[in-house]
Amino acid sequence: MIIKLFHTGPLAVNSYVVTDEKTKKTFIVDPGGHNADMVNHIKGNDFQVEFIILTHGHGDHIGGVPALRKDFPAAKLVIGIHDKEMLEDPELNMSGMMYVQPLSLTADRYVTDGETLQMGELELKFFHTPGHTPGGICILVENAVFSGDTLFEQSIGRTDFPGSSYQAIVKSIREKLFVLPDETAVYPGHMGPTSIGFEKENNPFV
Ligand SMILES: [Zn+2]
Repeated sequence: MIIKLFHTGPLAVNSYVVTDEKTKKTFIVDPGGHNADMVNHIKGNDFQVEFIILTHGHGDHIGGVPALRKDFPAAKLVIGIHDKEMLEDPELNMSGMMYVQPLSLTADRYVTDGETLQMGELELKFFHTPGHTPGGICILVENAVFSGDTLFEQSIGRTDFPGSSYQAIVKSIREKLFVLPDETAVYPGHMGPTSIGFEKENNPFV
């Protein structure tokens, strides 16, 4: 598995390009904006984008979707089922407010807790982790989890938005993420990477 980080969009969200080395099949996590370096990385290596996966529906994580759908028309857009409404509604996803254009998007696939997707030799497992948004998801692939705005290095996602819940985010982290092996790498939506073991020891919010 190859994981490459790009900062995209007006809030420089962490966007990841994840590739199965054997088949070159690839998914993109949270494209906040259209980023030429990201597209060159994918096209230059002849990677095949199968999925664009959104950890949640907020504008700073979805702004790059319309342009990337044009670049990679075969890619399927994936989001958690409980953020369907947010993805479709520019007021709820705050895309206009976040210096992106107002966006109303429809996904190709809405995933639920525990669901898996096969991509080449990689198995993607989805966890429903509400709290930052009602339908937030984390994606586990091998020994890495893409945690969106649920878990950050020594921090957690904001819970002061409509539909957010502090109790729910703490419960999600404890029950869905802190049960993973300590050595699991955590790739969050903002700030640097961390690990489950480090956060269990050091995260002051959980
Ligand atoms: Zn967010």
